[in-house]
Amino acid sequence: MNKFCQSCGRPLTTTNAGTKANGDSSNYYCISCYQDGAFTDPTLTIDDIKAKGIKEIKQSKMNIFKKIFLLICYPSRLQRLDRWRES
Ligand SMILES: [Zn+2]
Repeated sequence: MNKFCQSCGRPLTTTNAGTKANGDSSNYYCISCYQDGAFTDPTLTIDDIKAKGIKEIKQSKMNIFKKIFLLICYPSRLQRLDRWRES
């Protein structure tokens, strides 16, 4: 199991894992990105994901220092994920 969803970069756990076509849990993607063996939104670009993720971090109630840290490292973390590595 990957530590982070390889599409959106959210922490990947057994409770939010996506589903493969055969119904098994995905080891790579979370449920909001990947269901029944396909991306929930195949037209999504890394910029869309980035904008969404940054908005979520800004709106979250986490510690301000953690927030700043995440805002700095999130874009480069995204670029290393399997879904985006090619582009
Ligand atoms: Zn995801």
